[in-house]
Amino acid sequence: MKKYVFGTVVLLAAALLFLRHRENGKRHELSFFAMDTPVTLTAYGPAAPRGLRDAEEAVRKIERELSVTMPTSAVARLNTGETLPAASAAGRAITAALELCAETDGAFDPTLYPALRAWGFTTGEYRVPSRDELTELLKQCGVRHLRREGGSLRLEAGAMIDLGGLGKGLASDVAAQALKDAGVESAVLNLGGNVRTLGARPGGGRWRIGVRAPEDGLLGVIETDEGAVVTSGNYERFFERDGVRYWHILDPKTGEPARSGVVSVTVCGPNGERCDALSTAYFVMGPQKAAAFWKERGSESFVMLTDNGDLFVCEDLAGRFTVDQERKNAKVTVIRR
Ligand code: ADP
Ligand code: MG
Repeated sequence: MKKYVFGTVVLLAAALLFLRHRENGKRHELSFFAMDTPVTLTAYGPAAPRGLRDAEEAVRKIERELSVTMPTSAVARLNTGETLPAASAAGRAITAALELCAETDGAFDPTLYPALRAWGFTTGEYRVPSRDELTELLKQCGVRHLRREGGSLRLEAGAMIDLGGLGKGLASDVAAQALKDAGVESAVLNLGGNVRTLGARPGGGRWRIGVRAPEDGLLGVIETDEGAVVTSGNYERFFERDGVRYWHILDPKTGEPARSGVVSVTVCGPNGERCDALSTAYFVMGPQKAAAFWKERGSESFVMLTDNGDLFVCEDLAGRFTVDQERKNAKVTVIRR
């Protein structure tokens, strides 16, 4: 009799352990549209359903604060002349953007909105502004137009802030934190090419993040531990006039789409906000300047595709990036320190 009781207890314990193990690895997914892009959040384990709801709310909250097109957002109100507390979430994001502008020698510039708007990139009413018009508009761009008065930020008339170059990366960090706070230990978040992982992949091993190729399909796969994998590409948002393609990443020096020979650049690092800003900055810099910047500053590593089909890969990433079969004949240059 005793033997049977013991056997049953062992069996029950094994069944419970099995169920718990299965529940820990159970995959939950939530998709929605926010920040002008499709968002897919995937989380594992019993805390996932609540964590995903919190993460969605966190993304929407960031959008409500940073959106340049929602008239009620903190950034939009700053852009119409209101003051903004520097310590608010939007104020802190702007301060981080200004620091990234200085760090990248102006390649990342959050004050380009007057020029960006003239191209119609935020409204979809695309047009090609004249050189004279852009030269005029560039006078309203530049961080010198942002004033800090005590604990407040204020813009001079005509100047406008746009955090489109780092907003999704920042939102991915905030969403990852919301999942962590809810007790989720493993998740992968994708906000329109801004990927952020949390914890380890269920079942062990590194996360494998597919990097989109410009013509659909994959450019390759990056293996990563917890962190961000952020891609900026000229195929994300663009229009064509008379056979010329114009895209949404502008060269702050000209106010025109940055023609540095880059098609896409993917940046890896611990922080989504920084990786997002740097993906935009590296795009503007082009392969040579970005490589020099990376060597000098020891900043976040990248994989860059140029318009002749060549790939540039920082040495730290070389062992973790596998180029897709379709491009196995591409010339790959490993950038070394
Ligand atoms: P995506 O939004 O497609 O992921 P990016 O992260 O590169 O791509 O951000 C592009 C957005 O950043 C543009 O839509 C615009 O809002 C803004 N932007 C464009 N050029 C610059 C620049 N040189 N510096 C900072 N922000 C920029
Ligand atoms: Mg960016």
